Amino acid sequence: MKVHEYQAKRVLAEAGVPVPRGEMARSADEARKAAERLGGKAVVKAQVHAGGRGKAGGIRVASSPEEAGRAAEEMLGSRLVTFQTGPEGAPVSAALVEEPLEIARELYLAIVMDGAARGPVVIASQAGGMEIEEVAERTPGKIMRIPIDPGLGLQPYQGRKLAYGLGFEGAQARPAAAMMGRLYSVFRENDCSLVEINPLAVTSDGRILAADAKLDFEDDALFRHPALREMHDPAQDDPLEAQASEFGISYVKLDGDVGCMVNGAGLAMATMDVIGQAGGGPANFLDVGGGADEDKVARALSIILSDPSVKSVLVNIFGGILRCDVVAKGMLQAVGENPQTDRPMVVRMLGTNAEEGRGILSASGLNVALVDDLAEAAQAVSRYSRASGIPSGPGAAR
Ligand code: GDP
Ligand code: MN
Repeated sequence: MKVHEYQAKRVLAEAGVPVPRGEMARSADEARKAAERLGGKAVVKAQVHAGGRGKAGGIRVASSPEEAGRAAEEMLGSRLVTFQTGPEGAPVSAALVEEPLEIARELYLAIVMDGAARGPVVIASQAGGMEIEEVAERTPGKIMRIPIDPGLGLQPYQGRKLAYGLGFEGAQARPAAAMMGRLYSVFRENDCSLVEINPLAVTSDGRILAADAKLDFEDDALFRHPALREMHDPAQDDPLEAQASEFGISYVKLDGDVGCMVNGAGLAMATMDVIGQAGGGPANFLDVGGGADEDKVARALSIILSDPSVKSVLVNIFGGILRCDVVAKGMLQAVGENPQTDRPMVVRMLGTNAEEGRGILSASGLNVALVDDLAEAAQAVSRYSRASGIPSGPGAAR
């Protein structure tokens, strides 16, 4: 679960990590008053669950309370489009009004859970402020990676190594090293999957502050943190993912254009691989789950059909507890609810009541190809996507 910058900074401040003075505002008037309390000048920052705001006009420097109010006025109620949001953007319903900083150096610091390292890894770089992916590609030597033993936590020597690596010397080295320890505590105590400070700002008067903050909490650990769960802002969620989670469907939006509906997470992943091998790109991961009924299948397919980037659909069902006739009826229900969609579907059904399921689909008059072989199914569906004239493959849809 992601949270807004203003919420992340509250969590950091409580853990003793220095952040700029600031207030959250939900109206132009609140922003103006906040800027007044900050002494007149302020930075107004649009609160969305995405980075890249700086380049997209979501960070505005105001030299008076009136200007801060106007900046907030323009932001609030609009949608901010950054390279991370996709073309539809994210709604702005809050702004963070902060003291302006005189930034001398912008550093990058993150703690992530790294599957390959089997634990947390601290990533740090003197090349902060910009996109770290770009730094990693062009100048990988500028990035430090320090794995943390989860049993020991971030050791003081690692804090010092990070501080020196980030260029802190003399009187600044000690507080910088201590800050590393505090950031790790934030990561650990809140079950974060990501703590990202970009930039970690060094001001011209020598202060070290988290000028931006992104926290991502592990969903499966949120039951331990009721206070964090309260911070959830559903308006920032992908609407289709939110709908799926409401119905207990595992759904993740991806970049390709072949929609897939599958039962079982393993089969769903294998299906995505096979689509990739056939030259297509999955538009989503979707596992309807073992105990799905007709309604749930209908919801799942509706979610896929309401994604405008889907050009064709692959249904891959291995009937066990979930019977294929139930899937077929659910599919008809979904198509009935989305009459405007005429995208081709390729269906592979095996297992319990597969014959009945195929019979229902064949008799329905739908634009459905019934295929037994998975590779053949993936080739067919990828061909349909290409025939629609829009290139498929990861990244092609956006
Ligand atoms: P992001 O683009 O969404 O990651 O938003 P950030 O909060 O990281 O802001 C982007 C950039 O705006 C930073 O890298 C800074 O260069 C600049 N910025 C943000 N806050 C301040 C501030 O208080 N003072 C100054 N001078 N620049 C700021
Ligand atoms: Mn940033």
